[in-house]
Amino acid sequence: MVTKKKKAKKLVIVESPAKARTIENYLGKDYEVLASMGHIRDLPKSQLGVDTEHNYEPRYINIRGKAPLINSLKKAAKSASAVYVASDPDREGEAIAWHLGHILGLPDDGKNRVTFNEITKPAVKEAFKHPRGIEQDLVDAQQARRVLDRLVGYSISPILWQKVKRGLSAGRVQSVALGLILDKEKEIAAFVPKEYWSLNADFKAGKKEFSAEFYGTNGKKAKLDNQQSVSEILKKIDSNKDFQITDISTKDSKRNAPNPFTTSTLQQTANSQLNYHARKTMQIAQGLYEGISLPKIGHVGLITYMRTDSTRLSETAQEMAKKFIIEKFGNEYYHRHNVVKKSENVQDAHEAIRPTDAERTPESLKEILTRDQYRLYNLIWSRFIASQMSEQKLENQSLMIEQNKVVWRATGIKVLFDGWTKALKTSSTKNNILPSLKIGDLVQMINNLPEQHFTQPPARYTEASLIRALEELGVGRPSTYAPTMDTIQRRGYIGFDQKKIVPTDLGDIVQDVVVKSFPEVTDKQFTSKIEDELDKVETGNVKWQKVIDEFYKPFSKEVDAAIENLEKVPIYDRIAPELCEICGSLMVIRRSRRGEFYACSRFPDCHGTKSIVEEIGMKCPKCGIGEVVVKRTKRGRIFYGCSRYPDCDFASWTKPKKPEEDSTTN
Ligand SMILES: [Zn+2]
Ligand SMILES: [Zn+2]
Repeated sequence: MVTKKKKAKKLVIVESPAKARTIENYLGKDYEVLASMGHIRDLPKSQLGVDTEHNYEPRYINIRGKAPLINSLKKAAKSASAVYVASDPDREGEAIAWHLGHILGLPDDGKNRVTFNEITKPAVKEAFKHPRGIEQDLVDAQQARRVLDRLVGYSISPILWQKVKRGLSAGRVQSVALGLILDKEKEIAAFVPKEYWSLNADFKAGKKEFSAEFYGTNGKKAKLDNQQSVSEILKKIDSNKDFQITDISTKDSKRNAPNPFTTSTLQQTANSQLNYHARKTMQIAQGLYEGISLPKIGHVGLITYMRTDSTRLSETAQEMAKKFIIEKFGNEYYHRHNVVKKSENVQDAHEAIRPTDAERTPESLKEILTRDQYRLYNLIWSRFIASQMSEQKLENQSLMIEQNKVVWRATGIKVLFDGWTKALKTSSTKNNILPSLKIGDLVQMINNLPEQHFTQPPARYTEASLIRALEELGVGRPSTYAPTMDTIQRRGYIGFDQKKIVPTDLGDIVQDVVVKSFPEVTDKQFTSKIEDELDKVETGNVKWQKVIDEFYKPFSKEVDAAIENLEKVPIYDRIAPELCEICGSLMVIRRSRRGEFYACSRFPDCHGTKSIVEEIGMKCPKCGIGEVVVKRTKRGRIFYGCSRYPDCDFASWTKPKKPEEDSTTN
């Protein structure tokens, strides 16, 4: 028997097994695709790992526990006829490729790097025709951020441990985020509600009914500050007599199609419409990008790369949308939108987040995707299609209605052409068409409803609005929104009340120390400037060490001063509303892993404790014996449970509804 020597394969390395499976599917049997499972080299955990005396030289080591993986990659590379690294097309991916190249002994200018923005057969095949060398600017931008974060984390944390409490930490971007949340809290506390009244009325013109709101008197707009001003208005009119139309106006307006998603807008929309945290959105998006197994087709990436701040669409993507829109909705619904580059500075190689195939409608994938995947894909697909559609055209209508110089105004809206909202149903506008009337026509008042209101304090941030705020300040980047949100939550600096972000006492204390000790480096403007500088490293306009130096010089002075001057920060106890059941002393609120509880202020002399129970005044719907109580998860999210836990395991995210009172039948 003759054994033919096996032909050496070409080796491709990517970050994850899911991505490896999808790519293997396209490249055929001449290729072997392996996963590096993310980074393989990083700064050491046990020490700073940055030589601040010598141009911030980082000292990288192989990540612990990855030796077997590294060895098998080396072995595979040795016997391969060629090696390609196809990690993600951004700074992080470029750095992974660079580190892999270093370990496998690939030359930096050897054509070993392959990138693609979507994991589809044509895109991958095309990319493998153009392998390139490592782009050092991208790698440097990643190194700069990594080193910066390391310098900040490893300098501030020990100070916090020493002066406040062990286990605390702080960072640049997260301090800006936490600062915004706490500033909002101050605004809310300082807010003084102001009374005002509304006075709506229903009218009829023949058989047609419509609503209007009080506008003013003598042709002038007026506000209603209190009940007295409402009574004065109502005294002037006779609701049994006719009212006259004194003015009619219509004005056309249009709503432009939205841009396709960037990382930030995707996270915001998924948070407000689907209630997902940024981290969850990114996990689901990554799965869709890396590939889903479709019947008869095999693994295929359903969306383009999910870390991007670009709203650009490739020529192919625009053609694909055009074809779909014209076929599905008709010519009048198509309108090509040219996206202007965000900044001339940024090499806009990236695209917006979009489906890889417009024909793959959410409905056609409903049975294949998980519920979460389907819902996110649906957002991405619809937004992409809508972005290439015609504007929505509206007619805004307005009627002035008068009696004895008291004026009401009715407003209506008529959709003249639905345009892009045909594809994005959540943004559609409902018709509210006023009856067709002429100036001088008479109408009758059916009823009126005076209502007291108070101005509302500014709303707390949700994840969506906080991400928007960070982006507007210029401190957020596609790769940092989700980790920032996640970090301040995991550290116990914030919690959630429904979707609203609420800072904890701990968050308040830490921020206070950080802002006082490191005023410059946690300043919004300074942080935004540093982020811009990092972008310039990526485009090769600034050396990465210069950015670090610009930051580290003032920072290290602040660190020295903090070590020297910062007094130990006492964490004051909050007084509990109940007395100790054992000794009758005051109790204070303490925190444990399971949440807050009351503890005797004489601890350790007295060990009295009591759990904080907030009842909502209804029996447990599961066991009928216990009381429903408000609880918090370790992450601070509120849920409802049974007071008899662990004997009864009732739990619900939403407040259980009280059952209808049973009618007694004898
Ligand atoms: Zn006690
Ligand atoms: Zn129960």
